[in-house]
Amino acid sequence: MVRSVSILGSTGSIGRQTVAVAEHLGIRVSALSANRSTGLLEEQVRRLRPELVAVYDEAAARDFSIAVADTGVRIVSGIGGLIEAAAGSHCDCVVTAVSGAIGLRPTLAAIEQKKRIALANKETLVCAGDIVMKRALESEAEIVPVDSEHSAVFQCMTGRKKDELKRILLTGSGGPFRGMKRSELEDVTPEQAVRHPKWNMGAKISVDSATMMNKGLEFIEAMHLFSVKPADIQVVVHPQSVIHSMVELVDGTVIAQLGVQDMGLPIQLALTWPERCPSMFEELDFFRLRELSFEAPDLVNTPCLALAMEMAVAGGTGPCVMSAANERAVHMFLEHRLGFNRIYDCAAAAVEKLGIIKDPDLDTIIDADSAARRFVEEEFGK
Ligand code: MG
Repeated sequence: MVRSVSILGSTGSIGRQTVAVAEHLGIRVSALSANRSTGLLEEQVRRLRPELVAVYDEAAARDFSIAVADTGVRIVSGIGGLIEAAAGSHCDCVVTAVSGAIGLRPTLAAIEQKKRIALANKETLVCAGDIVMKRALESEAEIVPVDSEHSAVFQCMTGRKKDELKRILLTGSGGPFRGMKRSELEDVTPEQAVRHPKWNMGAKISVDSATMMNKGLEFIEAMHLFSVKPADIQVVVHPQSVIHSMVELVDGTVIAQLGVQDMGLPIQLALTWPERCPSMFEELDFFRLRELSFEAPDLVNTPCLALAMEMAVAGGTGPCVMSAANERAVHMFLEHRLGFNRIYDCAAAAVEKLGIIKDPDLDTIIDADSAARRFVEEEFGK
């Protein structure tokens, strides 16, 4: 079990749940980070008394250090501040719950310091999976996934050899528009899209679940995390979300991980692994579960998933460009500046326009990320 944890993105959905889990387990929270200073961040500082808080925006960091001057906490800012929060000697584990490519450098810095990475930032592996996994292997830093699907596969694979794995069965609920045609989704509002039937999550990831881009990003992540080929991952739509993912072994045995739909569970496991501790979550009630059903993904009506699977095969900067364009587009959709179906159009157009650079280094990836965001804003942001 880890002793002290740094939470990057502590005011977001995963960040807040990590705070609750750390308090439940009695794990010290030694650093926090957020983009801006908010009332919630101040509340967290006063309650948790971390050593360090990284506020990304410099002006906000200055204001924040005045607001919490009486606590003696050290405030840092910018990407340097984020790196210090992730890789400083104050923690032995970092929960990477920031969204976007901003999480990349801090995660790599923490890997170099051999910290446990409780990975909750999708872009880290989507954009730079090859680089990140290679560095983690070299430094022997542990990466324990927080995403429920990857946590499930991680648990199912524990104690097994890689060559026993035939394929990963990556489950997904299908989101709030499962079974609907793309043409029926033209007028979907942000309010409808963020109403996820099973999981309570932040706005961006909820929209990604509605477009199935979330499953696509998870597909790419799984490929890196478990070093399998795209052909060895099958997406399985499972509306009840009780099975969080499965692995099929070479002899045909399928192992599944089941549990309630609460992100706190995989968060806790990432902090206590390889141990398990009693948790504060509800137990799975099999007598209330009436059925578990499964269907194939509808790639025609969820083109975001199809595009992500294509990018998983293409590699290079393809996944990064797609993911960055998607992120920008989702924010424009949430601001009522873009239609729901245009999210896919943005991602596909960005890949088409910017092309794919093979074997990119970190700077090339970060450049591709900003170019994709710029492209979407310029082309679709009128
Ligand atoms: Mg997930």
